[in-house]
Amino acid sequence: MKISLIAHDEKKELMIEFAISYQHILQKHQLFATGTTGKRISEATGLAVHRFQSGPIGGDQQIGAKIAENEMDLVIFFRDPLTAQPHEPDISALMRLCDVHQIPLVTNLAGAEIMIRALEAGFFAWRDVVKEDE
Ligand code: PGA
Repeated sequence: MKISLIAHDEKKELMIEFAISYQHILQKHQLFATGTTGKRISEATGLAVHRFQSGPIGGDQQIGAKIAENEMDLVIFFRDPLTAQPHEPDISALMRLCDVHQIPLVTNLAGAEIMIRALEAGFFAWRDVVKEDE
């Protein structure tokens, strides 16, 4: 599966802890991230992460483009709900595209814990079927 990982600044530590905790699962998949999030995850875990631009300068839009092309399977996005983001329109667009294309999206740790277990259990195999049908 192709998985995108994004964390706003106040949530980056949480994302690092999440990636360390579930490294054994994440390492079986293709990982993508916005710039700084990807750098921090790679440094902390050694996981191979394809890095897009940093979120505020276009990274969210680049991930959105992958979703539009059916080139992304899951999005784990630790948003900061308490801080205004300059790139809010990009964030909304990314989430909208997940809804348009039926891409599983979680925006907090509680959802991510469920998603990662579902991933490990093989619950996302339907994504391969969707891609074969294209
Ligand atoms: P970053 O981008 O990983 O480059 O910090 C995430 C964001 O703030 O949208």
